[in-house]
Amino acid sequence: MQPAQLYKRKGSIINDNSTDPNKMLPMRYTWAREHYKSGVANNWTPEEVSMQKDVEQWKSKDALSETERRLVLWNLGFFSTAESLTANNIVLAVYRHVTNPECRQYMLRQAYEEAVHTDTFIYCCDSLGLDPDDIYNMYQSVPSIKAKDEFVVNLTLSIMDPAFKTDSKENIQKFVLDVVAFYVIMEGIFFYAGFAMMLALRRQQKMEGIGQQFEYIMRDESLHLAYGCDLINTIKAENPEIWDQAFQDTIVDLIRQAVVLERAYAVDACPQGVFGINAEQFCNYVEHMADRRLERLGLPKVYNKENPFPWMAQATDLSKEKNFFETRVTEYQTAGSLTWD
Ligand code: MN
Ligand code: FE
Repeated sequence: MQPAQLYKRKGSIINDNSTDPNKMLPMRYTWAREHYKSGVANNWTPEEVSMQKDVEQWKSKDALSETERRLVLWNLGFFSTAESLTANNIVLAVYRHVTNPECRQYMLRQAYEEAVHTDTFIYCCDSLGLDPDDIYNMYQSVPSIKAKDEFVVNLTLSIMDPAFKTDSKENIQKFVLDVVAFYVIMEGIFFYAGFAMMLALRRQQKMEGIGQQFEYIMRDESLHLAYGCDLINTIKAENPEIWDQAFQDTIVDLIRQAVVLERAYAVDACPQGVFGINAEQFCNYVEHMADRRLERLGLPKVYNKENPFPWMAQATDLSKEKNFFETRVTEYQTAGSLTWD
């Protein structure tokens, strides 16, 4: 991109009356453009991953323990509906209020990635022969999953009102809470106990196909989260009056409540622990991640927990190149380097 095309445009990320949403150039928020390009560089589809060994293990009587089966089912149940809730929020809520064209370009890409993620769970259900009525009802029938979904959905009800406008301090704060709920809490906290469990399972050579797909999803989600934090930090910089102490306290409090729910989910999905990891270590991982999110928003850390799973950090930076050696070439282009978790 020519630097001359950048930073020429004035305007703001929300409530911008001076920018035509159809005029892509010149750009103002180059981070949105960079996230778009990184997303495209990470392209993948679930069918690239073979499920044959997973199917054998799932159908075999002794390849997986009851604990391991529960962990797989809980995570398929949670993610299968969390991905479509997230997609709906982008398209029905955030997109309407963020009229900036480079941000919208990123959100269209993100919405496509959420469609790939929902497709992944269709593929997993089909491959393993799971009853869709069981899996897709878990967000209502399993209390620890239901509590997480209700928590984010309740935070976003006012934004879903077609008459809602970001036309006052209070309404901009409501809009930011929606972005916090989906980007920071759903994608940045509620996904992470599940990521750790599924990648820990893969480290035991169990359900490696699903584990690979979770790794790709996690790599996408780290970009979604980065975009969400950049969006919040930009709104904050352009509307400093919203970021008062009471509002900062509200966000920290929401993140604390979310961590309580994610801890409960981790214990419910994996009550006795697994692979030498106890449920408390999954909880510590979630708390470690929650602090990273708070720091990214310029808010004080709460938990000060060490990362119990340093091996998780690698998963977000992995290039798909490794599949060149293991299975077949699946690179569309060189993956962008993602260093932020
Ligand atoms: Mn997703
Ligand atoms: Fe996402």
